[in-house]
Amino acid sequence: MKKRKSKKPVSRARSGKSAAARPAAPNRAGTAPKRVRAILQKLDEAYPDVTCALEHRNAFELLISTILSAQCTDVRVNQVTKTLYQKYRTPKDFAYANPSELEQEIRPTGFFRSKTKSIMGASKRIVDDFGGEVPRTMEQLLTLPGVARKTANVVLGCAFGIAVGVVVDTHVIRLSNRLDLSRNSDPRKIEQDLMRVIPQDKWILFSHQLIWHGRKICQARNPRCAECNLERLCYAKDKTI
Ligand code: SF4
Repeated sequence: MKKRKSKKPVSRARSGKSAAARPAAPNRAGTAPKRVRAILQKLDEAYPDVTCALEHRNAFELLISTILSAQCTDVRVNQVTKTLYQKYRTPKDFAYANPSELEQEIRPTGFFRSKTKSIMGASKRIVDDFGGEVPRTMEQLLTLPGVARKTANVVLGCAFGIAVGVVVDTHVIRLSNRLDLSRNSDPRKIEQDLMRVIPQDKWILFSHQLIWHGRKICQARNPRCAECNLERLCYAKDKTI
């Protein structure tokens, strides 16, 4: 008697559907709507009205501060901009600055040569192409030298209240992974994951809530889980309780 061949399941590799090509499953454990709602509620309780910690008086200053904040703390940036914005008040002032002087003025924020190039380049573009005003769309902001999605999202969200994405910085990357809202490490993919599961009217506040929580409680080393109001919802491997 002929033996019947058992039907083997077709592997993903053979089926041509790689894990990377698949959209994130909307209802997997970490992003079940009920769980996401509970996380948002806890964040609202702890941080009802947080916003960007970079001090600024207008969208242009916020743009410059955000460029300066790469690889630097907001506290340090605020120290530098306190005097910087007294000397340079408009995009024109930065566009036609003396680069060596500007380099020394922003030196404490690190990477001062490339930041000077970005600041002067972005300011020139704003003067030449946008009538001296910071543009209000993601597409236009991304044409400015030194501006990527994170900076654009900060400016659009904080200065203009426009939610077209989620700010993904080092804190948002870490917390999104620990809270299992995203299993990606690439910021662009994390942003897409978050945009899928967080309601759009929460995008601006949510990113700032994660940033504040990351600074105060869910720090990279030794997160203070005993003080965390998300602890019961969190099953991160590196939890400290
Ligand atoms: S329980 Fe710990 S690891 Fe989880 S979010 Fe809170 S501080 Fe972070």
